[in-house]
Amino acid sequence: MRKLILACLTSLLSFSLIFLFVSSNSIPTQEEYFSQERYVPNEVLVKFNEDVNKSFVQDAINSVQGKVITYLGEEISPSLWEPDISSCRSFRLSPALFHIKVPEAIGTEQAIYLLKLNPLVEYAEKNIILHLCEEPDDDYFYKQWGLHNTGQAGGTTDADIDAPEAWDISTGHTGIRVAVIDSGVEYDHEDLEDNIWINELEFGGEPGEDDDENGFIDDVYGWDFYQDDNDPMDKNGHGTHVAGIIGAKGNNGKGITGVNWNVSIMVLKAGDSSIEVADAISAIEYAVENGARLSNLSFGGYVYNSSLYNAIEDAGEDDNHLFIAAAGNDEEDVDETPHYPACFDLPNIISVAATSNKDELSNFSNYGDNSVDLGAPGGWRTDPSYPDDDIYSTWLNDSYEYKKGTSMATPHVTGVAALILSVSPSYTYSQVKDSILNNVDELDSLSGMVASEGRLNAFKAVFLNAPSNLNAWPTAYNQINLSWQDNSGNENGFRIYRGTTPSQLSEIETVGENTTYFQDKTCSIGTTYYYQVTAYAAQGESAPSNTANATIPTGTPAAPSDLRGIYGANEVMLRWDDNANNEALFSIERKTDWDPWEEIDTAGPNATMYWDSDLPYADILYYRVRAYNQYGYSSYSNTARVICPEAHGLSLDITHAKKIVDSGERVGYIYKVKK
Ligand code: CA
Ligand code: CA
Ligand code: CA
Repeated sequence: MRKLILACLTSLLSFSLIFLFVSSNSIPTQEEYFSQERYVPNEVLVKFNEDVNKSFVQDAINSVQGKVITYLGEEISPSLWEPDISSCRSFRLSPALFHIKVPEAIGTEQAIYLLKLNPLVEYAEKNIILHLCEEPDDDYFYKQWGLHNTGQAGGTTDADIDAPEAWDISTGHTGIRVAVIDSGVEYDHEDLEDNIWINELEFGGEPGEDDDENGFIDDVYGWDFYQDDNDPMDKNGHGTHVAGIIGAKGNNGKGITGVNWNVSIMVLKAGDSSIEVADAISAIEYAVENGARLSNLSFGGYVYNSSLYNAIEDAGEDDNHLFIAAAGNDEEDVDETPHYPACFDLPNIISVAATSNKDELSNFSNYGDNSVDLGAPGGWRTDPSYPDDDIYSTWLNDSYEYKKGTSMATPHVTGVAALILSVSPSYTYSQVKDSILNNVDELDSLSGMVASEGRLNAFKAVFLNAPSNLNAWPTAYNQINLSWQDNSGNENGFRIYRGTTPSQLSEIETVGENTTYFQDKTCSIGTTYYYQVTAYAAQGESAPSNTANATIPTGTPAAPSDLRGIYGANEVMLRWDDNANNEALFSIERKTDWDPWEEIDTAGPNATMYWDSDLPYADILYYRVRAYNQYGYSSYSNTARVICPEAHGLSLDITHAKKIVDSGERVGYIYKVKK
């Protein structure tokens, strides 16, 4: 039954067969085509409310004579299900979601209808089948114009992602794990094997044992969720092609070069010529549980699925996981006809359209001003008798092939995301996404077609990494200080943006390269300011840093402390600690043993030093300092006592100075006086 459905699916995806449909008058209408639900018969995904108890679950599944399919593919009786035992569950990370099999006599539709009658069932839906987003095609032999376009194959020079320029900064790192959820990968391909993730504990472990206790036995390269075994070998070629674009080994004298010369590709096989959504979810859970930061999803379909949506959302919220997904190949405006998972309205998805070697939108590619994020090289559909411009990558049996599709565009973006993480491993998924989307090459051909209006540029995305860890704090009545981390390779400088609402920031200043702090002295007391910082260069501007905000507090300032004074050369140098974050000035006061306290001067905001060079005739001078602003004065600092021997024609013998530290950790010196 499954095979029959897959055969139908393949036909629908083949353009030549769609033309056959025309001639036989049986072509589905566009609406029928896009709403057509392709699903695994007699299977249901059912989600219970989180607090449901065991007997209710068993009764509900028994009511449709269902069996529970575990994440390892075994069918078990609902009576064996235990909520706390992951090996009995359908999904390791979603205990309340069940993948169940029902008898043919009941069937999918009726089972869903019956389950939905139960008030504790959140939803029940089909195990839909998603298609791979590769265009069927003949093979041609050209170079990798998507990485570096010199006009080969009739393309436009520089209609590429500027990969060689990006490689000056980073060629990737094997510490970055990227999940390829696809038809598997030929993991022993000569140009891939060095960049395939190896589960070391299983590689060196006992056969037949789950050495790393991750719930999968002997999962050395990943897992095959399609056939429920440990061998995710590719029989189709699609996943191998995708993997080569992300990370065929670079500079090894063989074959091609991936966007990353070095990376760890986690091979998660979720289908062969198509993908069941239940297998895709299990693969996502594996990716998250085993340390992948990115997943490439070069597949999709036009039917919404809550279980897949939830799995992707949870991976972002719980594990900072970013998904890069194909927009699809049906020349559709997906704002009107959403293609999932690319069009799920979730922040941790990048949706990718395909572009040609002339920087056009590929003629097969879906598009959407709102729901597609950017374009990346994916090829152009041409008459096979003319030169083609497909994407060249690894294929089965140690070979290489040209293929086209949003399937091929997507791993270019995934590869750049991995390059960014190789430079900035602490980036959140939104920083990676922003670095990519804020650094596209804007193209007229993509205006109105994708949200960023541009095509991927690896160099700008990697080179102009956004600053991070932006902090803002008040330091004086008119001043907020900023500090940030510089993550960029060779920026010209940084732009400081400020506003009084987080959504409306405008540039207030630029500072030079490698700068990591700024003092904004144009603030008003009591106002909250929001800041972002970007790196810029001739090629463009990075994504913004995080937003930081600060408010200069109203009220009187905090008192200075640790005032100490040293006499020398007819001057007294005073130093103190500034504890205030809203002072306008410091008031310096002095007295002698016979004159009362008087203010001798003021010092500016954030001052911590003062030289008193107009000394009265006295053996001993006393000083104290306080801060003030429009709200009033702080209390006084400690009083500093300074001996002034030269006032009596004496001088200090500093060679015999003795250091003392008082109970308040204050440091002072006792000098010998020379006559
Ligand atoms: Ca294992
Ligand atoms: Ca093992
Ligand atoms: Ca201050």
